[in-house]
Amino acid sequence: MAATDLARTLVSWAVEEGFDRAGIAPLRPSDYAEAFLAWLERGEHANLGYLERRSEERLDPRNLFEGAASALCVAQQYHPAGADPDPPDGMLGKVARYARGSDYHDTMKARLLRLADRIREAYPEALTRAYVDTGPVLERELAARAGIGSFGKNTNLLHPEAGSWFFLGEIFLNLELAPEGAAIAELCGSCTRCLEACPTGALPAPYRLDANRCISYWTIEHRGWLPEEARSMIGDWLFGCDICQEVCPLNDGAYVPAAAEFAPDDRRAALTLADLLELSRDDYVEAFRGSPMKRAKLEGLQRNAAVVLGNLGNREAIPVLKRALTHPESVVRGHAAWALGRLGGPESKLALVEALAAESDGRVRCDIEAAIVAV
Ligand code: SF4
Ligand code: SF4
Repeated sequence: MAATDLARTLVSWAVEEGFDRAGIAPLRPSDYAEAFLAWLERGEHANLGYLERRSEERLDPRNLFEGAASALCVAQQYHPAGADPDPPDGMLGKVARYARGSDYHDTMKARLLRLADRIREAYPEALTRAYVDTGPVLERELAARAGIGSFGKNTNLLHPEAGSWFFLGEIFLNLELAPEGAAIAELCGSCTRCLEACPTGALPAPYRLDANRCISYWTIEHRGWLPEEARSMIGDWLFGCDICQEVCPLNDGAYVPAAAEFAPDDRRAALTLADLLELSRDDYVEAFRGSPMKRAKLEGLQRNAAVVLGNLGNREAIPVLKRALTHPESVVRGHAAWALGRLGGPESKLALVEALAAESDGRVRCDIEAAIVAV
C-alpha cells in the first residue's frame, strides 16, 4: 500500500477506535531542541528529573527503537469545548478538569494498544510502541506536526474547534508513512489572556512555563512539605489548575463532545475538603480507584486539602483542622497547623499551643510555632 493510503487507513482506524482526532508525523529531530535544553538549563522543569533523562530519544524519536520512522498521533477530548461546569466553592477544592473522571493513562493506553494490535495484525512487519504521557517524547511537537493542534502561549496545544481540553497519545511505528493532517496555523495572535491570568507568574513569557511557579506542579508532582510561598500560591486548587485554559478564547468554541469516561466521578465530586482530610486509607483506595488524582497519593491530597482550607478562609474548617493536628502523617499535621494559623482566632491558637506540647517531629513543631506567631 502506498505511504499516503496507509497513513489514511491508520488515521481512520484511530477514529474508529474512539479517538477524536488523529494524524501522522514522520519522525525527525526536534525543532525545539535548543529551547528545550535552555528550559532545563534554567531549571524551569522544577525537580522533574525524568525530563533530564533520555534526551537522545526525546530530541530525536527515531532513537526510540531501531527503524522507528513515523508516529500515529491521537487526541482525546476530556472536557467539552464551550461547556464550563465549574465545581462548587465553599468547602470543596477545585480539581483540574482532566482529573475529574477516569485516568487517561489507562483508558487511552487501552485504546492505543487495541489499535496497535490491529495494525500489527494487518501489517505483520509493523513494530509498534504506544505512549500516553509516559515515554521520552515531546508529544505536543509531534501532535502539532500531525495537524492535531498548534502551540498556544500557555504551552498547551490548541485546536480551532476543540480548544485545549484534550489528551495526546501516540503509536510509534517502523512504517514509512506520508504526513497526514494539515498543520494548524498559530492561533493566539495578539491575545495574552493566559499570561495575564496565571496567578503565580508561571508563564513568564509566551510559550514558556516555569514549573517552579505552577500550581499544577505543586499540587500534583511535589512530594512532602510545600514551601511557604507555594501554600498561598495554590489558592483553592486541590489538584492541578485550569486557569490558563479557562481564560483561553479557544475554549469558548463550539460544543465538542468528550468521552463519557472523563465525566466527573460522582463519589469523588461529593467529597468535601474536610471529608478528604479524614479519609481512611481503605476509603481512599475505594474512592480513588482508576483516578489520575492518585498521583498525588493520599497524604499529598490531604496536605493540599489542609492548605486549601487555610486559603479559603472559612472558619467552619477549624474543627477538622484541629483534628488533623493528630494525623498520623507529619506532613498533614504540619500543613493543618499552617492552615489554622491562616484562619486565626483563639480556638485555633489554643489548639496549636496544645499540639506543640504534644508534637515531637521537629518539622511539624516549626510549622506549629510559625502558625502560633501568625494567629
Ligand atoms: Fe499558571 Fe495555573 Fe496555568 Fe500553571 S496551570 S501556568 S499556575 S494558570
Ligand atoms: Fe493563546 Fe490567548 Fe489562549 Fe493564551 S489565552 S493560549 S494567548 S489564545
